[in-house]
Formats: sequence, structure tokens, C-alpha cells
Amino acid sequence: MQVTILGSGFSSLSAAAYLAKSGYKVVLLEKNNSYGGRARRLQRDGFSFDMGPTWYWMPDIFDRFFADFDKKTTDYYDLHKLNPAYEVYFDVQDSVVISDSIEKIKAVFESLETGAAEKLDDFMQMAHDNYEIAIKDLVYRPGVSPLELVTPETIKKLGQFTSTISKEVRKRFKNRRLIQILEFPVLFLGAKPSDTPAFYSFMNQADFGLGTFHPQKGMFSVVEAMVNLCKSLGVEMHKNAEVREILTEGNKVSGVLVNNNVFHTDILLSGADYHHTESLLPPSFRMYSEQYWNKKTFAPSSLLFYVGFDKKIENVSHHTLFFDVDFDTHAQDIYDHPKWPENPLFYASFPSKTDGFFAPVGCEAATFLIPLAPGLEDNAEMRNVFFNKIMHRLELLTKQSLRQNIIFKESFCVNDFVEQYHSYKGNAYGMANTLFQTAFLRPKLKSKTLKNMYFTGQLTVPGPGVPPALISGKLVSELIVKHHPFITKMHQSLTI
Ligand SMILES: Cc1cc2nc3c(=O)[nH]c(=O)nc-3n(C[C@H](O)[C@H](O)[C@H](O)COP(=O)(O)OP(=O)(O)OC[C@H]3O[C@@H](n4cnc5c(N)ncnc54)[C@H](O)[C@@H]3O)c2cc1C
Repeated sequence: MQVTILGSGFSSLSAAAYLAKSGYKVVLLEKNNSYGGRARRLQRDGFSFDMGPTWYWMPDIFDRFFADFDKKTTDYYDLHKLNPAYEVYFDVQDSVVISDSIEKIKAVFESLETGAAEKLDDFMQMAHDNYEIAIKDLVYRPGVSPLELVTPETIKKLGQFTSTISKEVRKRFKNRRLIQILEFPVLFLGAKPSDTPAFYSFMNQADFGLGTFHPQKGMFSVVEAMVNLCKSLGVEMHKNAEVREILTEGNKVSGVLVNNNVFHTDILLSGADYHHTESLLPPSFRMYSEQYWNKKTFAPSSLLFYVGFDKKIENVSHHTLFFDVDFDTHAQDIYDHPKWPENPLFYASFPSKTDGFFAPVGCEAATFLIPLAPGLEDNAEMRNVFFNKIMHRLELLTKQSLRQNIIFKESFCVNDFVEQYHSYKGNAYGMANTLFQTAFLRPKLKSKTLKNMYFTGQLTVPGPGVPPALISGKLVSELIVKHHPFITKMHQSLTI
């Protein structure tokens, strides 16, 4: 029985591996000339850049994925816990360093607010408990029914679904810096902390409790690991294979049109953008209307720069956040009244600080990311205006001149997300995890209109991010196995 999979992001690769292991013939079709989806690698003049994800959080989920194939992450890549985990700038030469142990983090908290160390213990207890419930169990449920969320543990936590991260943090801490640091992890879920249920404090456990890791040679090493795993399991993989149309017969998918050829298939699974995938179907088979998508809260888009410097950069860490401007104003420009932010927060990654793979000796590779509202007008002029803004701030805050040391810069923004990934409104990482976009309230893994059509990825369950993408691939493969049981030839001959 053949399963054809659209896309080669983490969710597609994950599903491909599980399905191949279960005995299906798996064919994977990727439109771009590299695998990995948003996690592709850019290489130029001896420099390397992870184009998308750079934070390796929740190592237990990666371990669990590879263990399902009797493998370990170390069979494929080396992993280092970063120390410092990251650094946050609030003013000129004034940053807070988050290190790799909770004791050291508590000392920093206490130095900024008397009594904050004890309150952090209390907050982290909640975060830890939620991690145990959510990550070890709830996120591994397929979002089919609301009852999946009802367990003896979650009933006790009902208040945390109605309260928000913002409220829980502000109830305990008054210092603006501590508030921003504790609200930062849920930004990965794509919505404002004031719109994210307090239950998602498990992201703080991922941050302070488990720590920030770096796979040697970056996140693309994880893509390479999964591609190797898929190939070893017999997955047939094609690049430059864009699906232009999904063909149907009755209430089933019969095949896909790729480069003017028809690929017949028994089952179709799309890990490509959900909205885009539905646009490839005849209208009567689409489950969600344009109005539905338009009403949803999408994760931000981003303006990214990949920059090669001909010298080492001082006073920054591998992951450095620039929170020296007002977050609320920037958040309003993303979520409430979408426009280009006047003074954006930004994130910078300098992977060559800890990993020589990324830049030639004596040089620095830097990725800069400004979160933006999806769907904004994007042009070269705006990109340059914002590049100059952040370079000015970077030089000012870290007290050094850098602009004359730029060898090259490449940019990536809304238009590229649309053109390269068919991303809805150019969002960077899918649909946000707000209360009404959690679990069974997210777009479904199984089509209701076509018997053999499935979806996976960051617009489905559990949500945005690399670890959720790994889980999403597992969940959808389990649904496929359940609805289209694969009978091996040996088993068939025994039962006939
Ligand atoms: C800039 C950025 C930074 C991020 N940072 C982090 C981070 O630090 N940590 C973290 O955990 N997560 C991070 N994320 C989120 C994470 O990268 C994503 O949630 C995850 O990679 C999504 O995987 P996916 O499989 O759902 O989709 P995608 O990676 O989008 O894969 C979908 C694939 O489908 C292909 N495709 C589309 N249309 C077609 C078609 N018609 N035919 C064939 N193929 C098609 C696309 O080319 C793409 O390869 C970041 C994302 C971005 C963009």
C-alpha cells in the first residue's frame, strides 16, 4: 500500500519514517531543491546558516523519536548543552545572562528582585508539573475529541486553561526584565503571552528546567539525520517535485500531478501548508473556508537576515535577544493592528561563537530575526530600512562598530515564505496555540471529505515548533495505520 507525502519538513520526515517502519511503501515529494522545509541550510563563501529553527529545546522529544527506531540522537549528531543558554539585552552594555542551571538562574532573579528566587521555585514547580502532563501525555493525542484533554490531572488544572501566562507571571514578579524573560518561551507558540493559556508554562520548563542545546553543525544536522533514517527504512524521496494538483475519484484521492506526471497513490498525506494543500483540491473537498483561515490567529512571519562578518563579534552569546524596546507596542503591530513595527524587538543567533562549522576562522556568522505580522507588504526598501535599524541598535547596545565588517547579507521575508513554502500569508511557523486553537480545536489530521487524505505539520496538532512537528508526524502515521491497516504479504498468505 503506497502513501505519498507532500513536503519534507520535520513532520513529513517523521511520518515517512513511522509509515515506512510499519511496512507501507512511502514516496515523499518536496517542491524545493533541499529537504527540511523551513529548516533548510544556507551556505555561502564558507559560512553556513540554519535558515529557520535554531533553538533545540525539549531534547527528550528528539530522544523519544529516535528511540522509536531503536536509534539514539548520538547515532547521527553530537549535542551540546549551551552555557550560557542565551543572553537578553535590555540597554547599552546591560544584559541578563541565562545560564545552564536553575540555581544560577535563581541567583540572577534574586539580584533583580528581592524574593524572586523563591517565587521562581514556585513558578517552576507549576511549569514542571505541566510539562509532565502535557509533553509526556497530552501532546501525543491526535486532537480527534475534546475528551482527550480530560484526565484526572487536567481536571485539577482547569484554572490554568482560563488564566494566561501573562497573568501567572505578573502575579508573581514585578521586575519588567524578569517578566519579559519568563514570557519569552511562549512566543514560540505564536501568540501573545496574554492570549496563551497558563497551562503552556511547560515551555518555561523546557527553557530553564531542561535547557538549550545545540546540535553540532546546527539544526540541519537533525534534518540530515531524519533523511538518513528515512532512506534506511526504504522511503523514496524526490526533490524539485512540486505537487500542482490533487486528483480525486469519488470520495478518494487517486493521485497527484507533479511536473506534468501523475503519481497514483493509495493514501495521500500532506505536510505542506494546510491552506495551500486544500487549494490543490477541487473546491467541494476543501474542509475549511477562506473565512475560517482568515479568522485564525497565525504565528508571526519574520524578516530574517543571514550575515557574514569578517571579524568576531564581542559581547554577544550564541543566542542573543534584544528586548531593549517596548514589547507590548511591537506585539500590537503583530497581532492587533498589523503593520511594520517602529522599534522592533529582535533575536540574533551567532552559532559560530560555539561551533566552528558555521564560519571561517576569525569570522562570525549571524542570523537576525524580527517577528512581523503575516501578510504585510514586503519589499527590498523596507528590508533595508529594518536592517539599518537593527545594525544601529546592535552596535550601540554591544558597544562596537560592525557595519564595515559585513562581507555579505541575504534576507528572507513574507514574500519568500509564500513563494518558497506556500505559507499562508507568509507565516513563519504556523497557527498559534491560543485557547481556541488548541488540541481538537485545530485543523484536523484526517480529512472529513476524502477517505484516504491526511494532514500533518505545524497547522495541525500539537502546533508550531520542531518537537511538535516530530509528534505530529507520529500522530498522523498512527491514524493512517488505524484506518488503513497494512497487511504484510506473509500475514496475508497465513490468513487466506
Ligand atoms: C525563522 C524560523 C525560526 C524558527 N525557530 C524555531 C526554533 O528555534 N525552534 C523550534 O523548535 N522551531 C522553530 N521554528 C518552527 C519550526 O521550524 C517549524 O514549526 C517546523 O519546522 C515546521 O515543520 P513542518 O513539517 O510543519 O513544515 P515545513 O517545514 O513548512 O515543511 C513543509 C514542506 O512542504 C513543502 N511544500 C509546500 N508545498 C508543496 C507542494 N505543493 N508540493 C511539494 N512540497 C510542498 C515545502 O517546501 C516545505 O518543505 C522556526 C521557524 C522559522 C520559519
